[in-house]
Amino acid sequence: MIELSGVNKWYGAFHVLRDVSLTVAKGERIVVCGPSGSGKSTLIRCINRLEEHQAGTIRVHGIPLDQDVRHIEAIRRDVGMVFQSFNLFPHLTVLENLTLAPVWVKKTPKAEAERLARQYLERVRIPEQADKYPGQLSGGQQQRVAIARALCMNPSIMLFDEPTSALDPEMVKEVLDVMVDLAQGGMTMLCVTHEMGFARRVADRMVFMDKGEIVEVAPPAELFANPKSERTRAFLGQVL
Ligand code: ADP
Ligand code: MG
Repeated sequence: MIELSGVNKWYGAFHVLRDVSLTVAKGERIVVCGPSGSGKSTLIRCINRLEEHQAGTIRVHGIPLDQDVRHIEAIRRDVGMVFQSFNLFPHLTVLENLTLAPVWVKKTPKAEAERLARQYLERVRIPEQADKYPGQLSGGQQQRVAIARALCMNPSIMLFDEPTSALDPEMVKEVLDVMVDLAQGGMTMLCVTHEMGFARRVADRMVFMDKGEIVEVAPPAELFANPKSERTRAFLGQVL
């Protein structure tokens, strides 16, 4: 589903991604962790071209991410993204947030888009919030709206960038529960998170990044029990 090969990226003179290679298979759940500033967000954002890489190749479903706008559009249609800071439209109701892209980008008829939106609100367990505005919801509810909004585009891959790190502790679980459901439903997922309990439950493999490099890739049980790199060991010592 996702194939990164020798990906390099610089912000000016700063080398933020160094020879990153990773393959994500259909239905696979990958958790990416690593210290702040190690390039995790940049990596995720390169996969749907919110950032551009300068060397190496990224393919999604075999389609190369290059200068061809049709390629970029095809990939974006198929890749859902959830950010740390929800990024909902504050002036639109929950239902309007959910139907905006299906109606305008996918040309789904409004009634059909609303039916699907309500179905996904059920799935993230807030069907009763459809007519509220984001500002009237808790952080945990807003993040579940953001997940439902991504799902409304019927993506085959979901990218998460620290979806729970802006939440109060008591709201983390309700968002993680939705992500676990999604994982159990077979969604291909690439999640940046430091929620190691979540990683242990759902991750097929964990990726540890440091200073722009993938340092280690291993199933969670193996990574936690027997990290091969000293850098991984030091990081896990702080978060576990
Ligand atoms: P992480 O998500 O692992 O914390 P990021 O991918 O956000 O790391 O950032 C990696 C490094 O790149 C950091 O040192 C950060 O300051 C730098 N960086 C991120 N975005 C930009 C940008 N738009 N311009 C310049 N430097 C950036
Ligand atoms: Mg980040």
